[in-house]
Amino acid sequence: MKMQWLGALVLALLLNPAAVISAVPIQGQPLLQRFTANDYGGDPANYGVLGLPNGILLCANSRGVLVFDGLRWELIELPGLSPARALFLGDDGVVYVGGYDLFGRLRIDETGLYRFEDLTAEFGLGREDAIFGVIWEVAGTSEGVLFRSDEHLYFLGYQGQREVWPADPQARRLFVIRDRIYSRVHGKGYARIERGVPMLEPGGSFLAERPLAAALPWNQGTLLITDDGFFRSEAEGIARVSGADHAVLSRYQSNAAIRLRDGSLMIASTTGELIHLNAELQLLAVHQVGPYSILSMEDDREGGLWVSTEGDLLRVKAPSPWSLFGAQNGLIGSPRATAFHQDRLWVATSAGVYASQPEGAVLQFKLEVATSLEASGLYADAHGLLIGDRAGALFRHPDGRVERLVETDSLFAFKPSERHPNLLYAFADSEVLLLQKHKPAWQLLARWPLGAVSTSDVLELDDQTLLLDNYRGDLQRWRFDPVSGELLQRGSIGAAEGLQVDPNFGSVMQPLGRRLFVVSGMRVFELIDGRATEYLGEPFSRAERPFEMGLAETELGDFAFTPNLLLRRLPGTQDWQPMQLGAGGVRGISSMRIDADGILRAINWSGVLQYDGRISEPAMAPLKVELAGFELRSSEGDSQRLPLSSGQALQLAGSDALSFDYVMPTMDPGVEARFRIDGYLNSWSDWVTPTRPGLTLRNPGPGSYTLRVEGRTRLGRVAQPLEFQFRVLPAWWQTSSARIALVFAVVLVLLAVAHLFVRFRYRQYLAANRRLEQRIAERTAELEAANAKLAELATEDSLTGVANRRALEQALKREWDRCADQRQPLAVIMVDVDYFKQFNDRHGHLEGDKELVRVARELAGRVRPPRELLARFGGEEFAVVLPNTDLNEALHRAESMRAAFDGSSSPNTVSVGVAAEVPRAGRDPLQLVRDADDALYTAKRAGRNRVMAAAA
Ligand code: GH3
Ligand code: MG
Ligand code: MG
Repeated sequence: MKMQWLGALVLALLLNPAAVISAVPIQGQPLLQRFTANDYGGDPANYGVLGLPNGILLCANSRGVLVFDGLRWELIELPGLSPARALFLGDDGVVYVGGYDLFGRLRIDETGLYRFEDLTAEFGLGREDAIFGVIWEVAGTSEGVLFRSDEHLYFLGYQGQREVWPADPQARRLFVIRDRIYSRVHGKGYARIERGVPMLEPGGSFLAERPLAAALPWNQGTLLITDDGFFRSEAEGIARVSGADHAVLSRYQSNAAIRLRDGSLMIASTTGELIHLNAELQLLAVHQVGPYSILSMEDDREGGLWVSTEGDLLRVKAPSPWSLFGAQNGLIGSPRATAFHQDRLWVATSAGVYASQPEGAVLQFKLEVATSLEASGLYADAHGLLIGDRAGALFRHPDGRVERLVETDSLFAFKPSERHPNLLYAFADSEVLLLQKHKPAWQLLARWPLGAVSTSDVLELDDQTLLLDNYRGDLQRWRFDPVSGELLQRGSIGAAEGLQVDPNFGSVMQPLGRRLFVVSGMRVFELIDGRATEYLGEPFSRAERPFEMGLAETELGDFAFTPNLLLRRLPGTQDWQPMQLGAGGVRGISSMRIDADGILRAINWSGVLQYDGRISEPAMAPLKVELAGFELRSSEGDSQRLPLSSGQALQLAGSDALSFDYVMPTMDPGVEARFRIDGYLNSWSDWVTPTRPGLTLRNPGPGSYTLRVEGRTRLGRVAQPLEFQFRVLPAWWQTSSARIALVFAVVLVLLAVAHLFVRFRYRQYLAANRRLEQRIAERTAELEAANAKLAELATEDSLTGVANRRALEQALKREWDRCADQRQPLAVIMVDVDYFKQFNDRHGHLEGDKELVRVARELAGRVRPPRELLARFGGEEFAVVLPNTDLNEALHRAESMRAAFDGSSSPNTVSVGVAAEVPRAGRDPLQLVRDADDALYTAKRAGRNRVMAAAA
């Protein structure tokens, strides 16, 4: 008996390989939203992502910290434009940031601005000591925060402790498990890190040489994810987890792991895969989410999993009942219909008929039936698969044989009869076909030409009466003979029956429950006993364009969809609820049905969407509108940020304006807000997409005001509204005492006017006079400044910026006279660059110029202004005037100048000539320069790179 059963099973497997295939669940790619550097304005790679409790997302990016509220990205630059390498939310609610030679915290100040506070100084590290390189990780326990550099762990306790511990150079990534820090220390094993010191865990040496991709709390113990299996670390030691899909870990190089809210495990690989396992560590699916190495994962409060990679940033819906089959699964063309048949998912697309087939853990689609151009309709039963294509109907037998059943023009839909189990309607461009079951396939019973009618759906009123959609006009009502298939009568329902058909849209039936609606363009009618009356209720009232709405009645509830909206009414309820589809909101659903496997499938712009009601969605955190900025703007364009605390009293100038920035952080699509200001604008604004600034209000005058902002998302989530009070104080002239004073003032003014008029002309004269004087004074000052500038310009050498020859002569004359008066010696040093012509020839004139600038700078450093002066004498020759300096001292100074160029770092040496004398009246000061120049040429002749004194 048992053997028989086994034999039957083996036989079944041999005959039907699909029976084996069915072991792999049919699950598509997770819905995901992809952000690239173009979206977030940073560098492509994000090292980590952090979701704040209020829904704001932070990313550690090479350009700084990125902030995302679901609508807009903002970049917070760090000091020195340091990259952000790690982010951590402390138990104290503060964000800690690790950067390059930098770590600190990011706080929002009272005005709503993010402010970075450098913490390195708190560890006694001045800016020049902070050369620890990258802070690779920031981790924390209930005691404090740990910053890890290559060599140290910097511990910042919440009680104010500051400690620096050496980091074991062999310690790899840090893992925080149940408030303790662990790491794998290469060569030692899996260890707890206690004040920087690794303490091996029981059996920890097992991981001495084995890379550890992740460690996370798992039931009572710790799950260790290595490249050759899952292990559990417990008090007794480390043991291999039994029954887990270990093999998957050797197929991919894991890099990070996270436990999702439904208890399942997501592992990320360095090759862009997300590997999803259930709580028993059995593989559910592998999703290739992109080409980049995945660096980290973080789940947000709205059921999104953020995946940061080397090249982009993804928000994946996980866990989610929704998944998608698309191009990534090998599904080519635009999908038209689905069917579940032989334990496989079949999809008719514009490129043919595809069927699912597992490849490893990934479900792939393969072209199974090549059709004549696109395939549009599918109908499956135990006998085989009916396919509609451009040329008619094809039939695929269970063994894979395909035959053409009927030829017609494009055949795009099948619908089985509900009243006659052996009949099936098929819709083609110019006719409706009636097919009859004729084992093993179907046979044509009748052709009903359509004429001017265009239809794709039929509803049976009774055994003989049919209602048919008509895209070109009135609803069709036909009678037929179900035995012969003969069409007995063609009638229609239109204006005479109260159905106002818009000829551009025709009439489309939408049955729901026991009611029948007919949609024509923007209007909806209900058909009761053959009469149509306009219908204004749900769900059509929720659609901007009712003709875009489709309905599907399923055991999971009734669905209503438009390209932008998906509503569901749970069985036994009346309310239509918007559905959270997925990251970014997958739009464009065109049809929906429950396939034979009981799974709901919808066709949309990106592929085939699947809704698996067995997977529940995590609950979402509530939304809240918050004030993010409050500014006072003056008419001159200055703005001042104000604290965000409600109830402030403000003093405004008449032309000032207030601007308010509000945010409603959420990753849901279609965020909308509306506002009112009680006391000023007592009605609600329209619903708008929030902008920045949110709203600006011109000085509303003295009074008390309350700004209210309500928020919602397209999916119908409603936010806790913002309520923000402020008072505008009266200006001094608006107070009552000021008003009394004003009356007095007016009387006084009248009295004064007469008096003033007399003085008016006299003052006019005085004022004119004063203006004239002032103009003259201004002009004089301008002229003086211009002259000074001119003089200054003319004494500067334009290449080197030192004094020019003219300035040299002036200074020489001045110092000559002074030294003569004081009977003090005056010295001149001439410096000439050696072989400079060759330097120019070798390096070019431009390099020569640069070298001259360098020579001038070098010499300038050895001259003490204001009395000493360095000048460019001409070409590559410089002169130095040294008052109160005798020959000996001047030779000394000259030698230090020469020596400055006599080293490996200088490409040229210099020759120097020195002359000094106590000036005597009647002698030309320039003679001193000539003497020094002669000495210089002596030095040149003597072999260069030397100092010579002028002959006495
Ligand atoms: P010596 O050791 O005999 O002084 O050899 P020298 O090549 O330095 O002397 P010479 O007087 O023969 O050549 C001076 C060169 O300096 C000629 C010219 O190309 C260069 N020179 C003069 N003024 C400038 C200038 O403003 N810029 C550059 N790049 N070169 C200059
Ligand atoms: Mg020279
Ligand atoms: Mg020269």
